[in-house]
Amino acid sequence: MAGKQSGKAARAPGRDGTGRGADAKNGAGGGLRGWWRKLIVAAGKAETKPFWRRKTLAQMTTEEWESLCDGCGRCCLHKLRDAATRKLDFTNVACQLLSTRTGRCRDYANRFAKVPDCVQLSPRNVPKLDWLPPTCAYRLVSEGKDLYWWHPLVSGDPETVFAAGVSVRGRIVSERRAGPLEHHVISWPAEIPKTARRSARPRQE
Ligand code: SF4
Repeated sequence: MAGKQSGKAARAPGRDGTGRGADAKNGAGGGLRGWWRKLIVAAGKAETKPFWRRKTLAQMTTEEWESLCDGCGRCCLHKLRDAATRKLDFTNVACQLLSTRTGRCRDYANRFAKVPDCVQLSPRNVPKLDWLPPTCAYRLVSEGKDLYWWHPLVSGDPETVFAAGVSVRGRIVSERRAGPLEHHVISWPAEIPKTARRSARPRQE
């Protein structure tokens, strides 16, 4: 995850190249679907409410914390912050490790070694990071809100993040090819798509 301040970029980690750090068995792809399902089933058996509704970020286990990342990749985009006004602008320029094809980190396990300014999320810093997108599950839980229908923990399907228009997949450019960040300022990472705001998945999707 990252925020760009005074020209210096910072990125946020997450599952697969996205927010939060921890260690994790992330890395895009295989097994995620089953892993999320296990958590959902476990949550359903053990408690009436799923863990993200009854626990604070600080109370979550490492596995729960990692599963909270929806893999959207929005936090891995460069941002620009005006040094005088502190105004924050998002860009569609992705961290060098973020795959523009999948929207996920290509080396989640080693991201801090390869990208020193990648920011590790924690229960302490999440409430202070104004560059976390409004769709970010860490931000939502920190603000006492529930997850949306498209979050993999709710839907059981990582693809719903893309279906809801929340994933960065297919609409970003790598920092290796982007050129000046000022040419890439956009607003959508700071917005919640209309489809994503619905209370349930639209029938036609
Ligand atoms: S939910 Fe999205 S914005 Fe939040 S940490 Fe994960 S990838 Fe980043």
